[in-house]
Amino acid sequence: MVDLKSQYEKIKGEVNAGIQDVIDTTSFIKGTKVTEFQHNLEIYLNVKHVIPVGNGTDALQIALMALGLKPGDEVITPTFTFIATAEVVALLGLIPVVVDVDFDTFNISIDSLKKAITSKTKAIVPVHLFGQNTDMEAIMAIAKEHNLFVVEDACQSIGSVYTFSDGRKVQSGCMGEIGCTSFFPSKNLGCFGDGGAIFTNNDELAGQMRAIANHGMVVRYYHDMVGVNSRLDSVQAAVLDVKLKHLNSYCANRLAAADYYDAAFAATDKLITPARSANSTHVFHQYTLKLNGVDRAGLQKHLADKGIPAMIYYPVPLHLQKAYQDERYKAGDFPVAEKLSECVMSLPMHTELTNEQLEYITKSVLEYIA
Ligand SMILES: *Cc1c(COP(=O)(O)O)cnc(C)c1O
Repeated sequence: MVDLKSQYEKIKGEVNAGIQDVIDTTSFIKGTKVTEFQHNLEIYLNVKHVIPVGNGTDALQIALMALGLKPGDEVITPTFTFIATAEVVALLGLIPVVVDVDFDTFNISIDSLKKAITSKTKAIVPVHLFGQNTDMEAIMAIAKEHNLFVVEDACQSIGSVYTFSDGRKVQSGCMGEIGCTSFFPSKNLGCFGDGGAIFTNNDELAGQMRAIANHGMVVRYYHDMVGVNSRLDSVQAAVLDVKLKHLNSYCANRLAAADYYDAAFAATDKLITPARSANSTHVFHQYTLKLNGVDRAGLQKHLADKGIPAMIYYPVPLHLQKAYQDERYKAGDFPVAEKLSECVMSLPMHTELTNEQLEYITKSVLEYIA
């Protein structure tokens, strides 16, 4: 699905030098590399504060911890997503309220969101799934009307830009009070292990989240709140600082691959190519087709036999996961998410796809559905 080896070969000199530098200075934790990367990412995103943390899941947890929510408060999140979002809500004793998604964009359905708001709702966590921003203009308006926090899950969408109706262009993760991302190796900006970051323009929340990520400590060994231990290490920061310089070209490569797929599949109605929102760029963390009357398992096997991986993101919506069984929800409650989980298929998508590979993949897909 990804080709991290070829990507590394092209930046090997720079990356190795950065890592060697960390080793030479032995400042493995909280070193200058981390501060440098933090600063460069703040400039890239045009956001006031970047708080590097241990991974994307921690980023979400720390964000929610900083909002001062109380057990029983409700947090709304889409049911068609990766589990991390609902997981941290549940771990904090908050109540995950899931809502349906939009068939075209895979992102939170604004109608479904509006219906789920109660007097206990405190926050919305929209997930910019597969690399395209949610309809943030609508989300921010709803949040304002109901006085809710917005914590963006931008783990798949770093580098994607949203345009508001007044012309303002804002980076993914920098629209709500807080944004969260992951630097897991296969993410669009990935390191060589685990990593994540939190974004905010709010000074007070930034201070709060820095302290929470560091054992709730502001002054050394004085703990003002219950915190966690979550940090990005210097080796990862060194890798990320090099890759950040290439992020725009990485996004362009992904987009070119998506364009190739779109063109190749345009003529058949058995494959629905991913919709592009008018107000967001798409950084194609995943290229996800919707199959229309195609045997998914059969196609996946056909591709596997030809050495082509294809993945199902995600096969089970949150409300039907065993760990999240809840009397509030049953099968049939979120028909769009349930339908998507039965018909989606993601094809290889990364920065190093060659036209030859794309031709082989698309021909193999079309051959099966013919
Ligand atoms: C990857 C991902 C996460 C979690 O990130 P980790 O760094 O693996 O903890 C959370 N949400 C979404 C949507 C993701 O894709």
